[in-house]
Amino acid sequence: MNSTSYIELSRGALVSNFDFLKSLYGESIEICSVIKANAYGHGARQYVPLAEQAGVHTFAVFSSEEARVVLQVKQKGSRLIILGSINDNELGWAIRNGIEFYVFSLDRLKKAKEASEGLNMPAAIHLELETGMNRTGLSYPELRKCVNFLSENMEFFRIKGICTHFAGAESIANYTRLSRQTRLFRGRLAWLKEKGIEAEQVHAACSAASLAYPRTRFDMVRVGILQYGFWPSKEIYIQYMTRMKIQSDPLRRIISWKSKIMDIKKVKTGEFVSYGMAYQATEDKLIAIVPVGYSNGYSRSLSNQGRVLIHGERIPVIGMVNMNMLIADVSLLNNPKPGDEVSLIGHQNGAEITVASFSDFTNQLNYEMLTRLPSSIPRYIVD
Ligand SMILES: *Cc1c(COP(=O)(O)O)cnc(C)c1O
Repeated sequence: MNSTSYIELSRGALVSNFDFLKSLYGESIEICSVIKANAYGHGARQYVPLAEQAGVHTFAVFSSEEARVVLQVKQKGSRLIILGSINDNELGWAIRNGIEFYVFSLDRLKKAKEASEGLNMPAAIHLELETGMNRTGLSYPELRKCVNFLSENMEFFRIKGICTHFAGAESIANYTRLSRQTRLFRGRLAWLKEKGIEAEQVHAACSAASLAYPRTRFDMVRVGILQYGFWPSKEIYIQYMTRMKIQSDPLRRIISWKSKIMDIKKVKTGEFVSYGMAYQATEDKLIAIVPVGYSNGYSRSLSNQGRVLIHGERIPVIGMVNMNMLIADVSLLNNPKPGDEVSLIGHQNGAEITVASFSDFTNQLNYEMLTRLPSSIPRYIVD
């Protein structure tokens, strides 16, 4: 192991999560696996083939840059959708490679037509509608222009999808805003149909919306965080468990993040550990140095807060997290040694450190903590 830490992805957990999602949504609804931000930190290169083995064959990324990585590892028959950023001069590349992409301006539609013309292949597009998030998406005036343009240039396009995105489905506080979005979306779908514009699939829901508002599932759900075994929010988790009257979490975390003890030393009562005076030993202590710090994705805000697993015990992180190291108080362990495994996320002898438990400490969402894991950390598949 050259790297000071490594990530393991559990095949069993992934299969189990997709089985759960398939039974939840039913056979008629397609699962689109959202793997932007390096598959939420899991590692897109490793994750895509695993998901394919579990029977998932539609993937979505944010940018053309991410799509290039996925194109190298995905099966030929698997679909790939770019939800956001793609340069005009890459549209031809996307079309040639069968990559589907979002359209949220008339300009992109025109550029896509030009690229399609040059290749003599239709552009596979998803019309993204503005329904109230006010991010990307075709507003009504822009949509009208697109409809006119499409009607005259139908041979250059394959309308794979008509879609929208919700502004915060993970919190019931946004209920009114989301209901309004859903109503508007349905209205626009009907209007488009009148104009002769229909798509192969209608899609709107992310993880949270698919749970909290099942009627937003339409033909396809764009599943991000759930597939990795995390809930979009505590609220959604509690709501789901209560509604289904179940006690144990149906999801399993796929990711584990591990390192090893690099050094052990004794610290006398009254001494300070690591930079500054953030931690003072109130008694004689035994400490372990772990070669993972904030440059490796272990947040500095976990200083004096985080927990790691060593010998199956939850061990406090003491003092400031450094750029490349953290320090753990192993005084209560029986003979900890350099080389002993340290779990930063995941299981060890029945104990678990969840990313969510990080997030409670650091006020970061699961999403942010995961996507901060550097792509340079090696990823391995385990069963
Ligand atoms: C990220 C993203 C998703 C997935 O969101 P989750 O909350 O992780 O399920 C779905 N759709 C779009 C457009 C996204 O950007």
